[in-house]
Amino acid sequence: MTIFTKIINKEIPADIVYEDELCLAFKDIKPQAPVHILLIPKKEISSSQEITKEDQNLMGHLMVKIPEIAKQLNLSTYRLVVNTGEDAGQTVSHIHIHILGGRKLGWPPG
Ligand code: 5GP
Repeated sequence: MTIFTKIINKEIPADIVYEDELCLAFKDIKPQAPVHILLIPKKEISSSQEITKEDQNLMGHLMVKIPEIAKQLNLSTYRLVVNTGEDAGQTVSHIHIHILGGRKLGWPPG
């Protein structure tokens, strides 16, 4: 169990921007851009490496929600990031899609 499960269970507060029975989107506590949202499935999947066929509809659901959340936040241009594993910068072992926007983003990432 990670801190994100506590956020899902409302045991710790978060600034939630979208929620349904399958997923939750909330503001990152340490934003790296003017808009920095984390979109997570409520199911505990530790990283993108642990996605299985069973998760196909669930992960598809998250992808469908991205443009809706972006519209809600008035984001027309943004970047999606899924850090996977320590060297890629993953610090929370519950899969999360970063939605970053509100400024020009450099490429390539560090
Ligand atoms: P990662 O580094 O694993 O790709 O991303 C984890 C993200 O979770 C980081 O950007 C970090 O700021 C965010 N984060 C960690 N703990 C909390 C928390 O308790 N609340 C919120 N809203 N974000 C968190």
